[in-house]
Amino acid sequence: MSVNQRQVAMVMDLNKCIGCQTCTVACKTLWTRNEGQEHMLFNTVNTAPGAGTPRNFEQMGGGFRNGKAQSGQLPTMADWGEKFELNFDEVFYGGESDMPLNAKTGEPDWSANWDEDVGAGEYPNSYYFYLPRICNHCTHPACMAACPRKAIEKREEDGVVLINEDRCRGYQFCAEACPYKKIYFNEQKGVSQKCIFCFPRLDEGVANACARQCPGRVRFVGYLDDEEGPIHKLVYKYKVALPLHPEYETGPNVFYVPPLSPEMIDDQGNPTGQDRIPLSYLESLFGDGVKEALDLLKSERAITQTGGESELMDLLISRKWQDLFGPFSKHPRDAERLRITDAADPIKMFDPQLATTAVEEETQIVRLIDPANS
Ligand code: SF4
Ligand code: SF4
Repeated sequence: MSVNQRQVAMVMDLNKCIGCQTCTVACKTLWTRNEGQEHMLFNTVNTAPGAGTPRNFEQMGGGFRNGKAQSGQLPTMADWGEKFELNFDEVFYGGESDMPLNAKTGEPDWSANWDEDVGAGEYPNSYYFYLPRICNHCTHPACMAACPRKAIEKREEDGVVLINEDRCRGYQFCAEACPYKKIYFNEQKGVSQKCIFCFPRLDEGVANACARQCPGRVRFVGYLDDEEGPIHKLVYKYKVALPLHPEYETGPNVFYVPPLSPEMIDDQGNPTGQDRIPLSYLESLFGDGVKEALDLLKSERAITQTGGESELMDLLISRKWQDLFGPFSKHPRDAERLRITDAADPIKMFDPQLATTAVEEETQIVRLIDPANS
């Protein structure tokens, strides 16, 4: 049972994601640069429909059904995706002229974004969209319920779900239990690691790096109970932001505005009035509220197209980037820099006791303010 007083959340507007992976790089640069973290991508952006990351995570079980924990599968390193080399030499220096750029023979046949832009459907009505994912900082985290060491906690002040690495013994029951497969294993340290929702930045009033760096202004960050904030309005007032796979029963706190479709066209190239992305597919991802959400998006869009006003459209357009982040709109350069002994170890900041001790010691500047000033 969740005991946090407030819940911080993220809304991602899938109509604005261009699949550029800037968020992925911002997160990788900030949090997973150390040994043992080479394969970790706390933020992933995959093409949907597609196998996702790790490969076929939606078929790996975990989560709850009717409140009962379901068994789950542990992704292998091959499922996460291994590094591979492309056949540059053959394609560019002396190979067949029509040879496609591909993995070299004998290299792994899967990596984190292998099926990028493949999608589904028949030309000219083929379709796809991008699905960015982080840990959902769930209200009922399956990872937390599965940990016999009580190493996973939800922060009381904002519901961010964190792994206390000092308590973790690397059993990986959390990774099996998480139905979104958002927990990695660090073989160097022998502990599980995951997205920390950039909590040291939140503590300073700075939004998550993935959100701040996003050129598409896809991501909103704020508290669910802030009735004047965009998160509350998109999730509760307009109900256009929906959780991914609500049937897993973990209560995700990352929500998605589902993508609108171009119209299908017939053999003569004429629009048919039918959406190209099947409603059934979107409902398999985001549940029953998709139709109402898409209908409202279309009707509000139509209002603005005829010169009318729409608070919903204004929210989603976000002309000023500050409007995306509510109480977290401070620029990193203006944040009071956290000074702490082990800058690379966020767990030291998670544990108040360790943090206090560390602050009293000789200090160095934490990577809250990254070289990229993200
Ligand atoms: S998404 Fe997975 S790792 Fe994150 S809180 Fe939910 S169950 Fe835990
Ligand atoms: S940075 Fe924004 S637009 Fe680019 S892939 Fe990430 S969420 Fe999508």
